[in-house]
Amino acid sequence: MLECNLCEAKSQRSRYHLDQLEILQCTNCGLIFTNLVEKPDEIAKDYSRNYFKERDEYYFRNPVEDPLRGVEDSNILDFKQWLKKIESYKPAGKILDVGCATGVFLALAKERGWEPYGVDISGFAVGHARKRFGIEGFVGNITAAKFPDNYFDVITLLDVIEHFSNPVEQLIEVRRILKHDGIVLLNTPNEKSFMKILAHGIYAITLGRIQYPVRKLYHRYHLYYFSPKTFQQTLEKSGFEVIELTKKTIPLVKARGLRVEKIMVKGLSFFEKIFHCEYELISIARKREKKW
Ligand SMILES: [Zn+2]
Repeated sequence: MLECNLCEAKSQRSRYHLDQLEILQCTNCGLIFTNLVEKPDEIAKDYSRNYFKERDEYYFRNPVEDPLRGVEDSNILDFKQWLKKIESYKPAGKILDVGCATGVFLALAKERGWEPYGVDISGFAVGHARKRFGIEGFVGNITAAKFPDNYFDVITLLDVIEHFSNPVEQLIEVRRILKHDGIVLLNTPNEKSFMKILAHGIYAITLGRIQYPVRKLYHRYHLYYFSPKTFQQTLEKSGFEVIELTKKTIPLVKARGLRVEKIMVKGLSFFEKIFHCEYELISIARKREKKW
């Protein structure tokens, strides 16, 4: 049995068997994670150019110089909205994007006057951010970057916490390097979203014979899957106080697959809005000063 990253219990039930990938759920706190949490190094080497190429084309755009003939994709619109939100708490300063990928978010932050820093496990991605946007980044895990204590005004983790092998340990490091009055902004898929609930229902009713929807939503790159409750508890366990926890539908550029699949996602997103169980969780949190 593995140890739960959130409650440390060593008791899980199997939720889905997907060949080599097994999705587990802690029987004590309900946190969902995969059997690959013990093998993060095997996955790390896969974050090559192809990983980014196969995903979103926005990874290779310059959002400052090339606004795609004036029609920006929804992910970049999210980035801009989140920067505005951040600036309502902290107007300027040093910003660190953990899991900065090719630097698109930091390029927007730099344009708005922030002093940008990046960290990413992918040498390819950090190299791209440097060449394309002049953003300095560290290649590796946040715990290896060894930034000084209380250094950053803002730290962002965009679609990143679910990739961590040990979210609590890595968030405790984020807390250490965040200034006392700093804030963090994170987003992650919502385990209690309509899409996840539907996929689970189809898997359960067919006794695991229809796996297609589950396979679209669970894969080897995401090691953890958070509900609003386990997301908040993970932040609190790492020494943060959650000041905002909101939900939104997935930007369609992130829904990978065929055109027909994107249309389905769009339809499901409509129901997610009605039932208020959207696919993405977004949290803003601050450092808790006292011993937690
Ligand atoms: Zn647990």
